[in-house]
Amino acid sequence: MLEIACNLSRVRASLPEGTTLVAVSKTHPVEAIREAFDAGHRIFGESRPQELCAKHEALPAEIEWHMIGHLQTNKVKYIAPFVRMIQSVDSARLAETIQREAAKCGRTIDILLEIHVAQETTKSGWDVGELKRYLDSAPFREMPNVCVRGVMGIATNTDDETTVRRDFSELKRCFDLFRPYFGARFDTLSMGMSHDYPLAVECGATMVRVGSSIFGERDYGE
Ligand SMILES: *Cc1c(COP(=O)(O)O)cnc(C)c1O
Repeated sequence: MLEIACNLSRVRASLPEGTTLVAVSKTHPVEAIREAFDAGHRIFGESRPQELCAKHEALPAEIEWHMIGHLQTNKVKYIAPFVRMIQSVDSARLAETIQREAAKCGRTIDILLEIHVAQETTKSGWDVGELKRYLDSAPFREMPNVCVRGVMGIATNTDDETTVRRDFSELKRCFDLFRPYFGARFDTLSMGMSHDYPLAVECGATMVRVGSSIFGERDYGE
């Protein structure tokens, strides 16, 4: 079996039934994604709009593209025509922009609310209190072209299992806290990457985002 296909089946086999696997293909070439596609995989995550657009154009239309990296509002228009899910929605302004651009395309775009739980101050995401205040003012009801499907987050980058577990548990708490605002379609808790996804699954992840364990190490930055 080819290496990527082999890695994919190993990661899939390690996930409980019903867990969604997003194969994070950022920085990896179209050929690598094609290999995963040929092995039956359909859900891919990218973190840069330009790279996402180029890969979308080069690869089969059946692929479900997820935007997982920080997204500037002025870039939303490039991905709005095709993106399946934007996982990194970390501000009201971004949500409102997605609403506007999705409406222009006559689409509804699934989003996740990215919540800041990690100890590093550099990671983006909503502060929980701030998000709660925003939701209490009910603005998502006025966004018919945005479907809020759940919560996304990144744990602190550390080998200390206690810290990582605490971050994942906090994301799970947020998921349970915000679910009543949205109802049944709010079903996605996206957390866990190559080095920590088994712990994320233990803490309740319904979706994991795995890159290097499938495609190998990345040569250049995020
Ligand atoms: C790059 C990235 C991943 C995947 O990271 P790996 O360590 O390669 O599995 C997951 N989530 C986000 C938000 C990322 O930027």
